[in-house]
Amino acid sequence: MNELTDTHVHLTDPPYEAAVDEVIQKADRAGVTTLIVPGYDTESNRKIVNLKQRFPGILTAAGFHPMFLDPEIRIIDQLESIRDAIPLVAIGEIGIDSRKNAPPLEAQEDAFREQLYLSVEWGLPVLIHCVHAHSRCLSVLQNVCMEASIGNRVLRGVIHRASCSVEIAASYVELGFYFGLGPDIFDTRRTRLRTLAQWIPSDRILLETDAPYARKPDLSICDPWTLPMVVQHLSELRGEPVDQLIEAVSQNTSDLFGV
Ligand SMILES: [Zn+2]
Repeated sequence: MNELTDTHVHLTDPPYEAAVDEVIQKADRAGVTTLIVPGYDTESNRKIVNLKQRFPGILTAAGFHPMFLDPEIRIIDQLESIRDAIPLVAIGEIGIDSRKNAPPLEAQEDAFREQLYLSVEWGLPVLIHCVHAHSRCLSVLQNVCMEASIGNRVLRGVIHRASCSVEIAASYVELGFYFGLGPDIFDTRRTRLRTLAQWIPSDRILLETDAPYARKPDLSICDPWTLPMVVQHLSELRGEPVDQLIEAVSQNTSDLFGV
């Protein structure tokens, strides 16, 4: 059986946090053998440390999400102490979100940049959350790519739960970024996303569920163990043999996260 990695799943949140061992087993039985769990605020990052200590096989990331910024938080200090406690495969999730109730964009951008520079310094990829702010996100990434490279360490990462125009996506590809695709592709109303899923080059695709947050009333496919259905659907959408797609995605996962 082909082994898949769910590159973005929130096991620190309900309903999973109370039954992590069951989730791991159920995912494993479905062929989803690797799970990457990101943090997004002080509390979830603290839970990430506990999770990694209890379940060393889980891969962990830590970061400060734009929707949960707090001016009191010293981001770098917190991330440093997390990295002292556990191994991280990425910094995230981080990014820019311009929805109505989001913190001021300048503050978001500062926190985003700070964490992008740190990722280059630490040689880790970033997990990027971007909602309604792709031009802004892209220009920050382009700037940091130009300014920050340490030896052969450069800015690398994934646009998580990607949904943008093909034109913007082409610029992300140019910067070397990957795209995380998940259960959203089943939603036939999301024509832009489905067009993007067809367009993305195979060597730029990663799989993720963003479980439990991609759950919709009319979509039950959003748990780590449903990832094989996502890749099957994606292969049909792209007209690409599923084995070939899985092979490409596995290669991409190992190239980006070193797993
Ligand atoms: Zn997430």
